[in-house]
Amino acid sequence: MAVAPRKQLEAGTNGDCLTGLLGRGACGALLTRLIADMPGRARPAAVLWIDIDRFRQINNSFGYAVGDKVLVELVGRLDRARPAQATLARMGADEFVMLLPQAGRDDAEQLGRKLVSAIHQPLGIGVTRMRPSASVGIAIAQPGEDAHELLERANHAMVEAKREGGGRHFLALDATLPARDGKYLAREELAIEEILHRALEMGGLYLDYQPIVRITDGRTLAVEALMRCRVDGRQMAPGRFIPVAEKTGLISHLGDWSLVTAAEFVSRLHARGLDLKVAVNVSRVQLQSQNFAKSLHGVIAYTGIDPGLLELEITESLLMDGSEQVRRNVRAAVAAGFPLALDDFGTGYSSLACLKDMPVAKIKLDRAFVMDLPQDMRSFGVARAVAQLAHDLGISVVAEGVETEQQLLLLQEAGITQIQGFHIARPMGEADLIDWLA
Ligand code: C2E
Ligand code: MG
Ligand code: MG
Repeated sequence: MAVAPRKQLEAGTNGDCLTGLLGRGACGALLTRLIADMPGRARPAAVLWIDIDRFRQINNSFGYAVGDKVLVELVGRLDRARPAQATLARMGADEFVMLLPQAGRDDAEQLGRKLVSAIHQPLGIGVTRMRPSASVGIAIAQPGEDAHELLERANHAMVEAKREGGGRHFLALDATLPARDGKYLAREELAIEEILHRALEMGGLYLDYQPIVRITDGRTLAVEALMRCRVDGRQMAPGRFIPVAEKTGLISHLGDWSLVTAAEFVSRLHARGLDLKVAVNVSRVQLQSQNFAKSLHGVIAYTGIDPGLLELEITESLLMDGSEQVRRNVRAAVAAGFPLALDDFGTGYSSLACLKDMPVAKIKLDRAFVMDLPQDMRSFGVARAVAQLAHDLGISVVAEGVETEQQLLLLQEAGITQIQGFHIARPMGEADLIDWLA
């Protein structure tokens, strides 16, 4: 086993005798200085919190003497991967921090990847060979931020990396600030929350609709309602505002709003003699709510629509949530006559279990299996298997995110019968959709 550089072992007035690194206290003091110096620098300081995965197992299996040797070796690896201006400190048994005086997000993430890969090289202990791994949490300093808060953010990001299975890095959100209801949100999330409140109060929300067509005759069988938010002439994508709405609980208002708005559209289409299905996305908070069934019945009572025309799109991870409340809501929706579609199919852990247990009428094959066509024939294989499965179960199948004619033809060859995507039409406003249908 290689031994860590001598300077590591000899250094260490204010530090740690095994590794010779800075200790906790000195690390905090240095970080405070780095943050104070930030105004004169082009780029902020960054903290990388490194935790060796399953280190306790190494200690338990080989004893502490070997554990110490492994640690010294891993510290040597971190030190060799360390940029010249960075400092390494030891925070706990198998936890380290690297401080970078000046780094953009990209630099810090690049270093995070480098550290993860350095730790992951094979290591021999006697006759045993192991591949250690590390989880790295990265936080970028905000001007004036307290050093301990910054360290804590990096530590939380490390826990996040571990939760995803370890052997990876995770970048922390911006510093959090107190928001409503005792919640903490990142600066950007706070701004989005503000915009959502204004949109709900002053009418900045609307739905766009994207056609879902049958391949054989090009007929539009349904449209998916997609929420949009525009405030002060600025448009925000659902990928940005839905997660914030979910965090703050605003999603239940947004969800009710989109259910009712989509149902009103069903009723206007019906008045034009168009019995087109409108699909609406249902969020986790809605499906876990005790009021969901009431909202659904309210929608039918208020608009008088045939619930068979309002399809509820639910992601598989949500459907497999397992809680009694979710199951009750799903049963209530089906009993009331709303068709269920399984959204983003294939991206969760439980795709097939979902199909066995839940009364879904439609599968939406996720864009992930479409976007690499025609190059990736494995995607083609998945599409074909899913089409066969849907066929055997007697339910319909839609491929999402179809952007080219070539993809369409391959999907058709795979047995997919309906598609949605920019190749057919982008999401559009109600008036444009009516023109488009004509
Ligand atoms: P989703 O339900 O999977 O919706 C499909 C997304 O794919 C939409 O993004 C759509 O614009 C996009 N898309 C469609 N065709 C293509 C294509 O050919 N290429 C590419 N690159 N993208 C395509 P959008 O509108 O940004 O919505 C993103 C997600 O936000 C939706 O994913 C859905 O999960 C969520 N969402 C949208 N509206 C609502 C809503 O009213 N309530 C809830 N809870 N979630 C919503
Ligand atoms: Mg959807
Ligand atoms: Mg989808």
